Amino acid sequence: MARGLIEDRLGERARILGGERAILVGLDLEGDRETLDELVALSETAGVAVKGRVIQRRRQPDPSYFIGEGKLARLREQAELAPADTIILNHALSPAQSRNLEEQLGRKVIDRPQLIMSIFAQHARTKEAKLQVEMAQLEYLLPRLRGWGRALTGLGGGIGTRGPGETQMEQERRRIKRRIQRLRKDLEKAALERQVRGRRRRRKALPLVTLIGYTNSGKSTLLNGLSGAEAHVEDKLFATLDPLIRRAPLAGNREVLLVDTVGFIKRMPPQLVPAFLSTLEAVKEADLLLNVLDISDEKVFEHLKTVNETLADVFDDGPRPLMINVLNKADRLDDAEGRERLERALHEMRDPIAVSALQGQGLDGLLERIAGEVGAVRERLRVAIPYARASLIDELHRWGEVECEEYRAEGVMIEVVLAEEFVQRLERHAAENGIKLERLPL
Ligand code: GDP
Ligand code: MG
Repeated sequence: MARGLIEDRLGERARILGGERAILVGLDLEGDRETLDELVALSETAGVAVKGRVIQRRRQPDPSYFIGEGKLARLREQAELAPADTIILNHALSPAQSRNLEEQLGRKVIDRPQLIMSIFAQHARTKEAKLQVEMAQLEYLLPRLRGWGRALTGLGGGIGTRGPGETQMEQERRRIKRRIQRLRKDLEKAALERQVRGRRRRRKALPLVTLIGYTNSGKSTLLNGLSGAEAHVEDKLFATLDPLIRRAPLAGNREVLLVDTVGFIKRMPPQLVPAFLSTLEAVKEADLLLNVLDISDEKVFEHLKTVNETLADVFDDGPRPLMINVLNKADRLDDAEGRERLERALHEMRDPIAVSALQGQGLDGLLERIAGEVGAVRERLRVAIPYARASLIDELHRWGEVECEEYRAEGVMIEVVLAEEFVQRLERHAAENGIKLERLPL
């Protein structure tokens, strides 16, 4: 029986599979004004039918049960009445809290990180994303097994002996650790393959325009609108995990590549950050970022802050691609509050542009802006680097698109397409280090 319980946790009980009926639970810690709206959207995205919401005001979570014991009894009744087979908490639980709640409620208990990881697992499409999500789930599970093992040990031996539960648990731990090692190796391989693909794409030298922004802000819809293609649009958070790439025609017979990304979200479980960042390769390599903001959402300024903080992490204070703030869903601003929000955004943000991705307003203007930005900012240079300054070669590969690299007796000759800001830096560096630069036609 003990073995069955552990196996069950590994499989179904630690994640959402879709089809669950759930009651959602959140704590309203002081000043937080919890509504659970976002948790409802996340749950529905994962395929859960939401049967009720419970919010408790508390200064601090209960150390054993997270919610108070009185609330716990009411929650048990509510779950029986609903009926609900799953309880989803809008917070991260400690292993002991998860275990205690499951024992008390007799139902599957899923915390917020597990819910988000389940959504990622359901939507992962590339091999790399799948590996990363599985690794995140197993790493989250590992410390939790210890708690279950201890609970099970109580059934078996006395002091100083190992109960059957603990032995099973040790086996499971070893199995999971081996699996994690294996995943880590596979991930290294997958990352290499991605880099090779990236190189191949860059040789074509189409400017890369990457759509970023909060979940549900309309990135996939905008990608369709700009490219005329059928990308995957759903009214679900996280419908896009892997980046999607489309070509978009610009005036003057030019083209850009548009890349869709998974949305940003607040309170991302730390285990998931690698999976998330791998979709951000497209952000790092971008010539231009379109920051898609839902201007009809009153939280739009908070969302902008999340995006900016994430970008600061991704670029580590280094130089960033240019960014256009796109105020989407402008068609939905029919009240005074909405129009005020738009005014404020137009006033506070750098060069924003209002559009409706759904209805098409503003998209021609946006395409013109894109053409203007990615057309004007790039230059092609020939750089002659003496071997003593070879570290510059790596930098050029990092910041530009190296199109040609020739090793000669006197040094390395590189042809590279660079953004204007790097050209200026390179010019300064070159003057100080005796490196010859020559401008070439684009
Ligand atoms: P993503 O998560 O950022 O990719 O967002 P989606 O493109 O999937 O859009 C989320 C929801 O917002 C969908 O229901 C879209 O139809 C809707 N939507 C997107 N753009 C607009 C817009 O300009 N106006 C309105 N009214 N709805 C939009
Ligand atoms: Mg999308």
